[in-house]
Amino acid sequence: MTRHADVVIAGGGVMGCAIAYFLGADPDFDGSILVIERDPSYADCATTRSWGGIRQQFSTPENVSMSLYAVDFIRSAAEVLAVEGEAPDLMFREQGYLFLASAGGQAVLEANAALQQSFGAEIHLLDPGALAARFPWLNLAGIAAGAFGAHGEGWIDPSALLHAFRRKARALGATFLRDEVTGIDTAKGHVAGVSLRTGGELGCGILVNAAGPQAGALAALAGVDLPVRPRKRTTFVFDCREPLPPLPLTIDPTGVAVRPEGGQYIAIVSPPEDQDSDSPDLEPDHNLFEEIIWPALAERVPAFGAVKVTGAWAGHYDYNTFDQNAVLGPHPALGNFLFCNGFSGHGIQQSPAAGRALAELIVHGKYRALDLSALSFERLAAGRAVKETNVV
Ligand SMILES: Cc1cc2nc3c(=O)[nH]c(=O)nc-3n(C[C@H](O)[C@H](O)[C@H](O)COP(=O)(O)OP(=O)(O)OC[C@H]3O[C@@H](n4cnc5c(N)ncnc54)[C@H](O)[C@@H]3O)c2cc1C
Repeated sequence: MTRHADVVIAGGGVMGCAIAYFLGADPDFDGSILVIERDPSYADCATTRSWGGIRQQFSTPENVSMSLYAVDFIRSAAEVLAVEGEAPDLMFREQGYLFLASAGGQAVLEANAALQQSFGAEIHLLDPGALAARFPWLNLAGIAAGAFGAHGEGWIDPSALLHAFRRKARALGATFLRDEVTGIDTAKGHVAGVSLRTGGELGCGILVNAAGPQAGALAALAGVDLPVRPRKRTTFVFDCREPLPPLPLTIDPTGVAVRPEGGQYIAIVSPPEDQDSDSPDLEPDHNLFEEIIWPALAERVPAFGAVKVTGAWAGHYDYNTFDQNAVLGPHPALGNFLFCNGFSGHGIQQSPAAGRALAELIVHGKYRALDLSALSFERLAAGRAVKETNVV
């Protein structure tokens, strides 16, 4: 091997850059960090095609805690991620998330809100009367309750977070290499190094999989079966003639989500499960608007009865087909191959906590700030699902 780095991170999206930042910022770490990114324009990665949503409205303690940390981190980002006095602006719009439930979903909504509140999240349960008073633009037919996060929920610019992590990681000593990992050399229960598209080879002390939607493909290079697949999600952009007050990110019981974006709106829905296959392409799935999104929006928000679609883009969820949650930490047999994958639509807000967690494992050999061992790789083989019910 010609070159060597103590920690090689395969994939330089928000996760790879977050890990590099937290490693570089740890005073107990004095090794070398190399992030390998095949496309530094980030044109097709999950991060830049994301909505950047931040919410505490999850159903597991790990996900609620990770997002609470994200809010603290975002509030301090201008300070901790500043480089040479230049502070990043993550454009946090704290307009809230509003989850709506039918009578059938009310008990789950209430149980989730109780869990979120027990961790300190400021989530308000609203009955139809309170919903009508606060959100008069909603049609509440069929709605039994809503959960609204007035503080600490909203959205950021995901590209700004990615580039802020990247810039700070470089300032702290991480090196970025434009290349693609095309092979992983394993021997005697550990990873010795990686091969690169450009032909070279690189030795490593630790290899981190931060390949986003391609994480399953990267793991396969080491003979590891990781159930993370690229699942296409199409975002539609539309204009609405009727002026509305500032909307929170609103999730209808049908699963359709909508929020403002600039002077327009964006909407999304997961395709029906039987049509949600792994898909390498990024062609928008136009049928979803006509068939699912627009009927649901027009019913829930009467002003959306007359809208004009002005654009659409597709992106890949880094979708964990096992339980729609992150897979964090070492492989049980290849101890120096670490995973930071499978965020299934909530990776932007989990990047600060996941980046910090991976750095803790690498430097200190254990979690310190937040115990995320429930999200270990071992759980996959053991069949211990950590099921998230609030996947949007
Ligand atoms: C439409 C959409 C909406 C979303 N909305 C939200 C949201 O509201 N809130 C939220 O928290 N999350 C959201 N997400 C999810 C979030 O964007 C992802 O979970 C997160 O960006 C994953 O980050 P990542 O760094 O792991 O992956 P990526 O951003 O995809 O980065 C992985 C990088 O690895 C590189 N790579 C892959 N293979 C190799 C290789 N072999 N060698 C070198 N480089 C490689 C790729 O080029 C890529 O740049 C959304 C995602 C989508 C698609």
